Amino acid sequence: MSLRKQIVVVASAVALAAGFIGTAEAAPRIVTYNSSNTGEFQAAIDKGAQIWNSSVVNVQFRKVTGSANVTVSVDNQWPRAYVSSLGRGRWVMGRQAVNEGHDTVRISAHEFGHLLGLPDRRTGLCTDLMSGASAGTSCKNPNPNAKEKAEVEANFRTLVTVQATTFEDAA
Ligand SMILES: [Zn+2]
Repeated sequence: MSLRKQIVVVASAVALAAGFIGTAEAAPRIVTYNSSNTGEFQAAIDKGAQIWNSSVVNVQFRKVTGSANVTVSVDNQWPRAYVSSLGRGRWVMGRQAVNEGHDTVRISAHEFGHLLGLPDRRTGLCTDLMSGASAGTSCKNPNPNAKEKAEVEANFRTLVTVQATTFEDAA
């Protein structure tokens, strides 16, 4: 092997090693979100993101005002999430649920949960965040349970593939 070829091989090996180390140090993943157009719900929406930030370490939400991985909006229907892939998509804070008495911070944490790869599980249990409206309007719990947290940690540890899905959260 010529000296020139040997240098190229060594340089490639160094680049591969550096790339591997960089990947291992990548966590936590940052998912940006824009809640600029959510009016009276902005504080509740930010609280939902903060709850996830204090619940998991492999992914963190960061609020931005420009282009974002996740865009949040508001309308008069039921809340819902349009997930395009893990950590990417948009969700809607729906006034119909709020007007019927559902807790706004729980709604926010639930919809952000969809963006983190969690499906609906209508168990009726207030201790489950992803039980959503099935837990009734008396349920004000905005916190994911241990299993839900572990699932999100695993999703972002392996950067699992999430199929594009729409989650309709009507009661
Ligand atoms: Zn849902």
